[in-house]
Amino acid sequence: MSHELRTPLNAILGFGQLLQMDVETPDLQESVGYILKAGEHLLNLINDVLEIARIEEGKLDISLEPVLVHDLLEESLQLVHPLAAQRNITVKADVASVGNCCVRADRRRLQQVLLNLISNGLKYNREGGGVTVSCNTPSCGVDGPDPGNAGGAETGERVRISVSDTGRGLSPEQVARLFTPFERVGAEQGEVEGTGLGLALSRHLVECMGGVMGVQSERGVGSTFWVELDAANLPMPVLELAITRPLNNIQLSEQVRTLLYIEDNLSNLRLVEVILKKQPWVKLISAGQGQMGLDMASEHLPDLVLLDLHLPDMPGSEVLRRLQSDPRTSLIPVVMLSADANPHSAAKLLEAGAHAYLTKPLDVKRLLKVLDATLAQKVG
Ligand code: ADP
Repeated sequence: MSHELRTPLNAILGFGQLLQMDVETPDLQESVGYILKAGEHLLNLINDVLEIARIEEGKLDISLEPVLVHDLLEESLQLVHPLAAQRNITVKADVASVGNCCVRADRRRLQQVLLNLISNGLKYNREGGGVTVSCNTPSCGVDGPDPGNAGGAETGERVRISVSDTGRGLSPEQVARLFTPFERVGAEQGEVEGTGLGLALSRHLVECMGGVMGVQSERGVGSTFWVELDAANLPMPVLELAITRPLNNIQLSEQVRTLLYIEDNLSNLRLVEVILKKQPWVKLISAGQGQMGLDMASEHLPDLVLLDLHLPDMPGSEVLRRLQSDPRTSLIPVVMLSADANPHSAAKLLEAGAHAYLTKPLDVKRLLKVLDATLAQKVG
């Protein structure tokens, strides 16, 4: 379903971004802005709804590991900084309480939850207000690293991470409706944008991690949303899967680079064609099926293959495997392109040797960056 829902958005957001780069008339700029904004809103809705559906079907991949709250907060606070600055709101972590707090959680999911709570604290705050994140647990993590406990065994304690704001606060009746999907608790008519899915999704995620989520709020004073999880001992260094992997050097004899795009959807192909018009040094060739793509790869030996995951005759993962097992094409970097935003699928393909994994709807700037980086690395 992810594929069916996200593919049409790929064309809307992709061509929209291109238009935005080109149009100069203010009226048209504004119109394109509306298209992009609505498209992004729809994309957020689709992502959240699919994620909730995945959780409800018990299909969400959760991988629990010891996570240092301090690290997560550092990243989250950096990410929300522009929003906070825009509204002149002070966001801070109560550093003393956060200390070495370490919880057993799925790192990416917990970050998603914290980001949601902190952004809500900003979105539903007053101009010039504040948001504070703190941790409560008297003895969590103070013993330092335990090399024998790489899996981050539980300590039997719980850690509560709280996000407090000085916002409008909520009545008990509103609090009772907060975690219901699509419920915007009075914000429907306001200026603040949202889908009403963030809290429902966050609570589901926290529960999948064996935790609990709750809120205390007072109208006109502010709210404190909290997440309680099992404490863990400090972790061994956690290896993060690199987005891109080092490439073998291949000497190029010519300046023009050939990119083979294996894709059956014509509007996606057209989109990449238009994007690459802005990169005259890249020559695009394309194939609508996996086998045709393999034949073209061995005939033209392109500098890069852009490979869609859903092809009519064989899965993109199989095309990748065959490209890699053929000595003529095994060194050609392959960038996967898919409507499947599931990080597990991305990790599997990167492990299988894909150079990078991009999701649809395509972020045009990100695609150009990956192409630049990939092709530039090849020359070096
Ligand atoms: P969204 O922010 O996308 O509407 P959420 O599920 O994150 O969706 O939040 C649901 C609703 O709860 C919001 O629309 C808002 O009315 C209310 N809400 C969430 N966080 C806060 C907060 N910190 N202070 C006041 N109201 C909040």
